[in-house]
Amino acid sequence: MNKNYDNIVSILVNVAVNEPYSYSVPDGKSVRRGTIVRVPLGARKQIGVVLGKPKNNIAHNRLRDIEYIYDCPPLREELLETINWMAEYTLITRGMLLRSVLSAKKALEKEKPLLAYKLNNKFYATSEKKLTRARKKVLNILADGLAHTKRDLKERAMVSASVIDGLEKIGVIYKVEIDKISEFTSPNPNFAPLKLNKEQMKALKNLRKMDKGFGVALLDGVTGGGKTEIFFEKIADILREGRQILILLPEIALTDGFIERFALRFGAKAAKWHSEMSENQRAKIWRGVMNGSIRAVIGARSALFLPFYNLGLIVLDEEHDSAYKQSDGMNYHARHLAVIRAKFAGIMLILSSATPSLESRFNANIGKYKHIRIENRYSKIALPDVKIINMREEAPKGGKWVADELILEIKKNLQHNEQSLLFLNRRGYAPLTLCRACGYRFQCSNCSAWLVEHRFVHKLMCHHCGLEIKKPTKCFACGQTDSLVAVGPGVERIAQEMQEIFPDARQVVLSSDMGSGAALREKFMQIEQGEYDIIIGTQLVAKGHHFEKLTLVGVIDADLGLAQGDLRAAEKTFQILTQVSGRAGRVGKRGRAYLQTYHSENKIFKALSQHDSEGFYEHELTIRKEAGLPPYGRLAAMIISADKNEKAFSYARSLIAHAPKSSNVQDLRNLKIYGPAQAPISVLRGLHRVRILVQSEKNFNLSSYMRFWLDNAPKPKGGIKMQIDIEPMNFY
Ligand code: ADP
Ligand code: ZN
Repeated sequence: MNKNYDNIVSILVNVAVNEPYSYSVPDGKSVRRGTIVRVPLGARKQIGVVLGKPKNNIAHNRLRDIEYIYDCPPLREELLETINWMAEYTLITRGMLLRSVLSAKKALEKEKPLLAYKLNNKFYATSEKKLTRARKKVLNILADGLAHTKRDLKERAMVSASVIDGLEKIGVIYKVEIDKISEFTSPNPNFAPLKLNKEQMKALKNLRKMDKGFGVALLDGVTGGGKTEIFFEKIADILREGRQILILLPEIALTDGFIERFALRFGAKAAKWHSEMSENQRAKIWRGVMNGSIRAVIGARSALFLPFYNLGLIVLDEEHDSAYKQSDGMNYHARHLAVIRAKFAGIMLILSSATPSLESRFNANIGKYKHIRIENRYSKIALPDVKIINMREEAPKGGKWVADELILEIKKNLQHNEQSLLFLNRRGYAPLTLCRACGYRFQCSNCSAWLVEHRFVHKLMCHHCGLEIKKPTKCFACGQTDSLVAVGPGVERIAQEMQEIFPDARQVVLSSDMGSGAALREKFMQIEQGEYDIIIGTQLVAKGHHFEKLTLVGVIDADLGLAQGDLRAAEKTFQILTQVSGRAGRVGKRGRAYLQTYHSENKIFKALSQHDSEGFYEHELTIRKEAGLPPYGRLAAMIISADKNEKAFSYARSLIAHAPKSSNVQDLRNLKIYGPAQAPISVLRGLHRVRILVQSEKNFNLSSYMRFWLDNAPKPKGGIKMQIDIEPMNFY
């Protein structure tokens, strides 16, 4: 074989590899950086992207040809750079990041042309009398001389497909190919702008004053401060420039509602993007984003991998939300990815939150992000009156969870026809089932976790691996019947308690058990319309929603998040309690929030009741600084798992033994390696888990250290798995 060196390119393939392979370009074809191609890899075919000239020449006879060049624009430089940077930082392979970009395979296939029907005028004139009514109805529609799709004809004439097929057969109508009309009307920046108040206007001016090109703004303001309306105006600016915008939300369940709100302002729907969409829908959006016919996307974190044509702005709403961190093996944080993408695209990123992450607050404090504050609610209604209920003194007796003081408030609300929300971040009925006779606790057979009772469906479930068993009637250990007791509350149990106290109140339980689809949306809508008096929910209800009649929030267990004991426990608790309290009294009337706690002395509760977020951030940042923890230091975790605990430990020990002790490029004196230690969830899905934690100073390149370490350490084998998590957000 005689290959021309000029025609050899390096191609990154969408499998778990970090480096590109070399291929030759078939004679007469040409590719450039970013071109999407199909190549043979081993016995398989893979999709890849051309990166450029190979670094090293490889032997001619081993080179294979590019098999197919897709007819679609090349991936843009900013996206290729983003992949590269993310791979360096997160240690996710470049190939897997590319796979996230190429997540809509169907988008690469040629679109099938759309078929439609036109009237054959000659025939119509002569054969009109002999037609059935159904056929006439179809012809009447086609009488406008335009081409109509089968679907359109079926729907409008209310006939079956066979009527149309019949007409085609006798030659009265004929098939034509038509261009697909984009179903996405462009948003209109001038459709329905709101008049901003002074504080909002000032914030918008500050956004507009920022340099053209890359920059991050932290839009930090109270719940109901009108932040959404502010960034909508910045979005309008970008749309006027003819560029695309992307809004990210932490939960799929929030997207539909947000798309509607967007449509009210811009007169058109934004395209939706998340992992639960069908392959066809994804293909449509992917193509539209790439060719520029779709101008606005609202989606979950994976939307950050879309191949935008000319992205002009990214907004990350509720930027503090821990759902932005993915930790299923592809461990990255959407906030981080958004910053990197914005940087390489040279555009603005807006981070919006009423309770920013400590990281973002820190970056705002040191001037890396532009800090834009909103102090007052748009409605002028004061923030809710927050009261602390000291459960050491006021806890109700045996098997009850709601204090008298809170019950009294709910009663008042029922009398005034106002809604109450009881918040407990725990699905199901009870987190533990115990045998009173022998003390046996029902545990998952795959995980070191209790089984949670879900009483509505008569099941015990593992919230880690999804295992379900029918609710047992006797103890697995001693066989005794009638000895099983539910320990602790979940939302279903609170619902039962409310049902007993207020049998006439209309109540609803909301948790992710209801999925994220239509049923859930319907419930949200019913709540908005005031069809329920008492809402009992998990964190699902804490976010984003706007319930007009809701004036009371009760937090059943304000200590729940604190008990988790990771470094962000206080931060996360402060955030979620601020968010959920902020649901109360958004329109018309000041709300009240009651927090039930056994630790009323904790600083968090003082900060919450005085709305002193500044005080909280200052305190928390001081603690982090003293401990050298993020945002003042860096962390990386290694999670090792294996079928036997000793296997996991011994591999972890060998990893530690290979940790680089010296470096020519970095000072290792302040690097700390902790572990190996048994993970808090010691067994997950049948695998024993061990953790190693590495801590460094802020200005240390921890990613490159970890990469160097792993390159020189034994690889996991024999069923051992190792996951690396840079800047871990959870520690279980
Ligand atoms: P945030 O995003 O800060 O929680 P929102 O943007 O949702 O706040 O605003 C809270 C409420 O006030 C919403 O119902 C919103 O439509 C309304 N609102 C905010 N700004 C304006 C404005 N300039 N004109 C009219 N209504 C506004
Ligand atoms: Zn399990």
